[in-house]
Amino acid sequence: MLAFTYEALPSRVVFGPDSLDRLPDEVVRLGAEKALVLCTPEQRPTAEDVARRLGARAAGIYDRAVMHVPIETARAARERARDLGADACVAVGGGSTIGLGKAIALEFGLPILAVPTTYAGSEMTPIWGLTEGDLKRTGRDAKVLPRTVIYDARLTLSLPPALSATSGMNAIAHAAEALYSENANPIISLMAEEGIRALAESLPRIVREPQDLDARATAQYGCWLCGVCLGTVGMALHHKLCHTLGGTLNLPHSETHTIVLPHAVAYNQAAAPEAMARIARALGTKTAAAGLFDLATTLSVKTRLADLDVNARDLDRIADLAVQNPYYNPRPVTREGMRALLNDAYEGRRPST
Ligand code: NAD
Repeated sequence: MLAFTYEALPSRVVFGPDSLDRLPDEVVRLGAEKALVLCTPEQRPTAEDVARRLGARAAGIYDRAVMHVPIETARAARERARDLGADACVAVGGGSTIGLGKAIALEFGLPILAVPTTYAGSEMTPIWGLTEGDLKRTGRDAKVLPRTVIYDARLTLSLPPALSATSGMNAIAHAAEALYSENANPIISLMAEEGIRALAESLPRIVREPQDLDARATAQYGCWLCGVCLGTVGMALHHKLCHTLGGTLNLPHSETHTIVLPHAVAYNQAAAPEAMARIARALGTKTAAAGLFDLATTLSVKTRLADLDVNARDLDRIADLAVQNPYYNPRPVTREGMRALLNDAYEGRRPST
């Protein structure tokens, strides 16, 4: 019988091409007087445009966001926010920039307005991450959930096709695991299926024509839904394995997700038949795992861990780590199973149908 717990995350979404025009009003709506604009060094010109739009309400720009939020960067950004008297952050960028905003919010409780420019989905989650030395800590805290999110597809036109493709596959991973989550629920499953559908339909169009604004908006809509999935229900094997691989071997985030996803889904295929049927239906394919592999192939992205310069010798160590701290997964996670999965991902084998 149907029984579940569903908790909605409180965030305001402003969606549509040119929605960045609404930024000043949205900052006022947050009650902020001085917003610190955050970005990566590469996205400084976009941040300057954002600061210009904010006029007197811009406290300044902090342009040192990098992958995985090193604690030193977080401390420097917090100091900058305090010195400038900022009472809000506007994070313009992908998961790294929004992650930096979350690090500031975690310490000072400043509201975040996020303007995402990738498909990673961090803007829809209360999950923060901080890296100290080799160790990446993550946690959940309601105060790091961006209060307002502006999705303006124009800002994604510059995202290179390969990064668009892997970032989109990263989003699909959130939805796929939400469908077989320990606390899966019918509302999130609706969003998950629709999110996968929107991305599977739009990503091939983006790779063919990166300036296709309609495809970009559809992908953003999909990644929003997938981000809600990540923020609302627990993830499983795929996310744990990518975290272990990324953290141990310092691999690129979205490319690792893209390569591992078909194999993690194949591992769980028999244990979560309903979820698999929904993933396959959203992809328009016969089976979930092979469908995901074929989508990655269509997008012309890397499908082998060997392509990320992973050394075959490292796979034993990763398999050991993957079974060290038990976590929920629909199929029990065994050392032997992990070793076989990693081998398939290393070789880039198409999962059997
Ligand atoms: P990213 O933020 O690291 O960005 C990758 C690169 O793309 C950067 O150099 C950035 O400047 C550039 N870029 C971003 N948007 C661009 C655009 N529109 N045009 C041109 N260049 C652009 O990449 P990401 O994949 O979005 O984020 C990855 C990080 O986010 C990881 O550290 C991951 O752990 C984290 N993450 C966190 C959550 C969460 O809920 N906390 C969710 C997803 C990802």
